[in-house]
Amino acid sequence: MAKIFRGQILHTKSLNEFEVFTNGFIAINSNGKIISCGNNYESWSATQNINEFEIIYLTPDQFLMPGFVDCHIHAPQVAQIGLGLDMPLLDWLNTYTFPLETKFADKEFAQKVYKQVVKTTLRCGTTLASYFGTNHKDSTLILAKEALQQGQRALVGKVCSNCNIPDFYKETYEESVKETEAYIDGFKLLKTNLVQPIITPRFAISCDEKLLSALGNIANKHDLHIQTHISESVAEIEFVREIFSKGYAEVYDSAKLLTNKTVLAHAVHLEDDEIKLISSRGSSVAHCPASNTMLSSGLCDVLRILKQGVKVGLGTDVSAGNSMSIQDAILRAMDVSHHLEFVKKQHIKGCPKPQGDPSTVDYKPLDYKQAIYLATLGGAQALALDHVTGNFEAEKEFDAILIDTTQYPLHNFDSYKTWNEDKSKEMKLLELVQKFIYVGDERNIAKVFVAGVQVKV
Ligand SMILES: [Zn+2]
Repeated sequence: MAKIFRGQILHTKSLNEFEVFTNGFIAINSNGKIISCGNNYESWSATQNINEFEIIYLTPDQFLMPGFVDCHIHAPQVAQIGLGLDMPLLDWLNTYTFPLETKFADKEFAQKVYKQVVKTTLRCGTTLASYFGTNHKDSTLILAKEALQQGQRALVGKVCSNCNIPDFYKETYEESVKETEAYIDGFKLLKTNLVQPIITPRFAISCDEKLLSALGNIANKHDLHIQTHISESVAEIEFVREIFSKGYAEVYDSAKLLTNKTVLAHAVHLEDDEIKLISSRGSSVAHCPASNTMLSSGLCDVLRILKQGVKVGLGTDVSAGNSMSIQDAILRAMDVSHHLEFVKKQHIKGCPKPQGDPSTVDYKPLDYKQAIYLATLGGAQALALDHVTGNFEAEKEFDAILIDTTQYPLHNFDSYKTWNEDKSKEMKLLELVQKFIYVGDERNIAKVFVAGVQVKV
């Protein structure tokens, strides 16, 4: 049945356009598409047959916002979350990640892990995720089916890697191409748009030039999304230059892997000309602040990347990131942005003095509204799915989370309410949002909707 939600609602329209409706409504048709959203319920409803809608009233302690978008998560690695995070990237891959991912040849094991992964990400309010699976076609199809069955919107990729990884996990070029084609065919049986395949070369180091080009051709032939890693750590970038004798972005571009449906994780150390190239191709970046910190990869200046016209979303990058929650990624992105401000503007004690005068640097760290944009619409844009989801514009699908600030850890804030009386409705709503972002967690996510359907969390 068609529905109307009435109450406090917020969404973003761009990095610097944060819109709140204090006395708002969202009308959704029976197919889960948004008909209208705004503050002007009286004038809108006068033109409608309201009896056709179920009307749901939010309480003053609740608000609706778009669901979170995780632009970069390794589903199999959830099994090792929290482990080996004191290692640099390449050591961590060899010690933990490759041996674990090899186990996903076992479909039963994969089923068990993937069921839990989708359940947990949905619980954290992730309505759209771009998943890396493993090299195994069959178990990665299990992940796709699991997302579909639990009602999560997802891009799911069979990982490809034919060199510079341990022999026990390596594919040949032929296997990788054949299995990728068969993987794409597997989706035809699912008959859905909710879950789609995404071409997934692990990263330039683990795919030779021939395989990268073949994957670029497959993506172009089927008009598919593409995901991979770029410029995460300095050691990795040096290795890429050693193998290919060119820059990281150029390696992907030569293989036709930079398209307007490509999302590149990390981008910590991109050169200016690489950002220009990525921007000109319409490709995007998944900013993964938790893992960049955990593996000591570096501080990614996403504002620098955004300024050059590149779309940016957030990724948990589990399990190099230690949290499955995009709300946590919001906080980590703001932390990184503040730390960058210190680096740019302060003479940090114990560090060599910068050559210029830091006090003249024009840099303002990300604020919570901008970070919410990255976590929702920015993510949808980065995954080239913003025509479907990311905010509450008419014609998009209703992917949303209902936040309830009466639940733990936000249940006990009567003290806040007593001095909150005189504030405007807009200020009160913005303060509820700040409470949720800075102090709350998934226990404050009361309901999750994907394509208008309330999913079980
Ligand atoms: Zn990753």
